[in-house]
Amino acid sequence: MNSIEKIPEDFNEQVADLGIEFDEGDLQRLGEFIDSLLETNQKFNLTAVKDPSQAWTKHILDSLSLIPVLSTEGVEHVVDVGSGGGLPALPLAITMPHVTFTLVEATKKKALFLSEVVDQLSLDNVTIIADRAENLATPDGGFRDIADAVIARAVGPLQVLLELTVPFAKVDGVVIAIKGERAQQEIEDASKALHILHSKVESSVRTTTGTILTIRKIESTPRAYPRVSGEPKRMPLGKKGVKH
Ligand code: SAM
Repeated sequence: MNSIEKIPEDFNEQVADLGIEFDEGDLQRLGEFIDSLLETNQKFNLTAVKDPSQAWTKHILDSLSLIPVLSTEGVEHVVDVGSGGGLPALPLAITMPHVTFTLVEATKKKALFLSEVVDQLSLDNVTIIADRAENLATPDGGFRDIADAVIARAVGPLQVLLELTVPFAKVDGVVIAIKGERAQQEIEDASKALHILHSKVESSVRTTTGTILTIRKIESTPRAYPRVSGEPKRMPLGKKGVKH
C-alpha cells in the first residue's frame, strides 16, 4: 500500500485553512501511518475506513483539526484516552514533535499495534499504556493531574467520557473531544457529570469533519472518580435513576 499517492485534492488546502504548516517528512510519515493502520486492519478491526483517500480526510484531517485548540492552549503534554488505532494522537504526534503524548488503550492487541507503529515511525514523543483509563487516573494510579490536554474521539457519550478523561487533566487544563452532530444533546445530557467533575464546556466548534468540544477542568477531581473499571459506562454520571 502506498497511501501517500492517495492524498485527496483538497487536503492541502484544508490543512492550510487550519493554519498548519508541515515540516519536511510529515506527509510521508502520515502516509506510512495510514499504510500500517489499513494493513493491520485486515487482521483485526481498527477502523471502518478501508480506503486510503478517505483515511486522509476522516482520520488525518479530523485528528489535525485539534491543532488550533492545542496550540492556543500552549500544551506540552497530552493524554489520548481510548486511542484504538492511534486516533487522534498519532497524526498529532507526527505534526507536533515538541509535544509529548501518552496514549491510553485498554485492548492489548491494539496497544501492541500502537507500540509497533511508534517504533516504525521513530516517534520519541509518544508513550503507549495498555490499560483502562479507570485504573490509571485514580489518586494512586500514577497518571492523575498530568495533562495540559486530554483528547478523545469515539470513546462513548460525553456523560461517560468525562469521567474517563477529566481526572488526567491538570486543574485549568482541558479535555478536547471530537464529536459529531449530536454534540449539543451530549452536552445537555452531561450537565450533572460536568458539575460533579468540576468542569465546564468552554466552546463547541464545527469543523469540516466534526464538532470539537473544549471542556475546562476548574477544580481538582473528587477522589471518588473515576469509579472502578466499567462503572462509568455501566452507570453514567447523572443518568436518571443513578445516585451519586
Ligand atoms: N479513538 C479511536 C478512533 O477515533 O478511531 C478509537 C475509537 S474506538 C471506537 C474506542 C476505543 O477506546 C477502543 O479501542 C477501546 O478499546 C478503547 N476504550 C474504551 N474504553 C476504554 C477505557 N475505559 N480505557 C481505555 N481505553 C478504552
